Amino acid sequence: MENKLSFKLRTGELIIELDKCVGCEAYECVKACSLYGRHLFRIKLGSWGPIPIYDKDEFRRRCIECIACEIMCPNHAIKLILPIEVDY
Ligand code: SF4
Ligand code: SF4
Repeated sequence: MENKLSFKLRTGELIIELDKCVGCEAYECVKACSLYGRHLFRIKLGSWGPIPIYDKDEFRRRCIECIACEIMCPNHAIKLILPIEVDY
């Protein structure tokens, strides 16, 4: 069974594939959100992957959809699905 976390955002969705986090000690997602985003994750000893600090409603309210967590994750474990208008 896939081990996923998902959060509805203001305009889209954020998905974390936690299976890809096993063994990752970089926690670039946590650092990136702390530096460029809204500090929405923390690290928990004894478990893998980013731990959301807030419940889903509060996460949705606070996330600024900056995609720093997705860009910085070395294992492509985080994906933001956002409606981006392309003007041809
Ligand atoms: S989301 Fe990426 S950086 Fe964060 S713990 Fe998982 S694999 Fe590591
Ligand atoms: S998109 Fe930005 S604010 Fe939202 S969780 Fe990722 S780093 Fe944090």
